[in-house]
Amino acid sequence: MTETESKRVMVIMAHPDDPEFFTGGTIALWARGGAEVIYLILTNGNKGSQDPEMTPERLTKLRQDEQRTAASLLGVKTIIFLDEPDGELQATLQLRQRVVKEIRRHRPDIVICPDPSTYYFGDTYVNHPDHRAAGQVALEAIFPAARNPMYHPELLGEGLLPYAVHEIYLTGTAQPNRWVDVTDVMDVKVQAIRSHASQLPDPEDSIERVRQRAAAVDEYGRRVYREAYRYLAIR
Ligand SMILES: [Zn+2]
Repeated sequence: MTETESKRVMVIMAHPDDPEFFTGGTIALWARGGAEVIYLILTNGNKGSQDPEMTPERLTKLRQDEQRTAASLLGVKTIIFLDEPDGELQATLQLRQRVVKEIRRHRPDIVICPDPSTYYFGDTYVNHPDHRAAGQVALEAIFPAARNPMYHPELLGEGLLPYAVHEIYLTGTAQPNRWVDVTDVMDVKVQAIRSHASQLPDPEDSIERVRQRAAAVDEYGRRVYREAYRYLAIR
């Protein structure tokens, strides 16, 4: 995809596996096109198990390993884990400072993050509160904190200069205004999702739902797979 060639893209999500489920096709497509993709995973995901034998410590490690495997399939080279407690994510000033730090350090052209205004999807899913908090803290870090030297002035001392992100793709949105055709990379997205084995008690059912959600018909009447976004171009 020429429009993202040589661009830097930061994907800010709550849990290991969110990038693949929400935006894995777009990531694969852009990485193939020459974009540099960086993951910023806010929580350790260590409540994501029903297994009575599992411990939070083992789950943290397992999910990080799964996330590394999935990311490498999509062409992502850099993953930052902030290791906040799973299921308790809040858009606090302290977390915002940590996100601003990574934005200033990596200076992404594009940020992909959850739409924080999504409380539920359709009639059958409640959005995970961590996803909303991740979207909120990402947007609040982008504007105005990352671009304004008066916010988090201690970062200037670390050489982390103000930086303005201008393009944002919100995933998991009820108000999409942009669609990325991921038909050509749907198989690699599915393969990356399969890497999160600890999160897939019934992999075929999960994969089928992912395919159904992405299925669409394009303007020529062809059956395609698409990922939907609310796209914001911030001045
Ligand atoms: Zn999640």
